[in-house]
Amino acid sequence: MTTASGLSSAETVDLFKRYVIPNYNRYPVNLVRGEGSHVWDSEGNRYLDLFPGWGCNLLGHCPQPLVEAVQEQVATLIHAPNTWHMDLQGRWAQMLSERSFDGQAFFCNSGAEANEAAIKLARLHTPKEKYKIITFEGGFHGRTLAAVTATAQPKYHEGLGPLVAGFQYAPFADLEAVKGLADDETCAVLVEPVQGEGGIRVAPAAFLQGLRELCDERGMLLMFDEVQAGFGRTGEWFAYQNFGVTPDVMTLAKALCGGIAGAAMLTTREIAPSLRPGMHAATFGGNPIAARAGIAAIEMIESEGLLENARRIGDLFRERLSSLEERISLIREVRVLGLMVGVELTVPGAPVVEGCLKRKLLINCTQGNVIRLLPAMNLAPEQVDEGCEILAQALEEAT
Ligand SMILES: *Cc1c(COP(=O)(O)O)cnc(C)c1O
Repeated sequence: MTTASGLSSAETVDLFKRYVIPNYNRYPVNLVRGEGSHVWDSEGNRYLDLFPGWGCNLLGHCPQPLVEAVQEQVATLIHAPNTWHMDLQGRWAQMLSERSFDGQAFFCNSGAEANEAAIKLARLHTPKEKYKIITFEGGFHGRTLAAVTATAQPKYHEGLGPLVAGFQYAPFADLEAVKGLADDETCAVLVEPVQGEGGIRVAPAAFLQGLRELCDERGMLLMFDEVQAGFGRTGEWFAYQNFGVTPDVMTLAKALCGGIAGAAMLTTREIAPSLRPGMHAATFGGNPIAARAGIAAIEMIESEGLLENARRIGDLFRERLSSLEERISLIREVRVLGLMVGVELTVPGAPVVEGCLKRKLLINCTQGNVIRLLPAMNLAPEQVDEGCEILAQALEEAT
């Protein structure tokens, strides 16, 4: 089987070698079609995808209600500039606000962009002498220069300096360290309530509560990067709802439009006006296609009861993987919150990912030794069993 362009996987790899900048490590497979939690390559192989779209395809590949909504929107209004009003963008903001804290949205196109907006907002909202932002080791906030500076992982900084001034790093979940760093020049704390790229590390609720109190005392903004953990992923609409701690600013992207590019920064009504006209913008932000897809994603999650399903499927993963942990000595720890699933190994994970690929299962490895799954919310229980069985085979092979 070939695609419309008729290229095989090998031919596609050749094309990339010649014309595409090699800034990613890519598997030599040409993916051409997806449906639910399956994808197909140009040779007709079918894969079970437990990491669909790097966590963006939260509703599986090509979910029908979203496909239909976008098809209709493409034929109606593709793009209009943000110098006009668009009812879809307003309605989308309302729907996000009604499901989180009562506030207002700025729309953009990627997680890094949403975090850039948050960083600028923090500096604009607080007094002029406040400019420092505290972030956490093992965190990930994107690749633009300020976002990558906020990302306290040295491997992402190599050769890029000088980085953006004013970022300070604390060990994850170390409240005392944050207290030690915070001073009269600190304007914000930026944290992932669940570190994704950092290896599915769930923040203790007491740590986030402590940050909330510290930020209130010192006049700093508490900003949650929920680009990966937000929007249904944890079985709640937003990750912060698992912890009983509400941030002042929240960033969203990845799954926000069910696989269409779209991102948002939400903040309270009090803080929002600090992002005043002329100080920030995104040409494609909140465009009608993204807005329509974002609305369709919310409606689908609610009409199909997918928050409940995400919790059920997450519990099933925890059960299955914990029983593997007893059997397979390579597993050091299993960490699950809803559909954020991490399996920390005592050995490198790359051969395990390869072993799964060979068996037609797509997964991810982060931090060298953490197997990461970000499955679709409408995954079926049998697919959990199938995926865990294949993963067990690949782990046993690596033992
Ligand atoms: C992926 C990710 C980002 C960056 O998002 P992009 O859309 O790639 O810019 C930022 N923060 C977190 C927590 C992420 O997982």
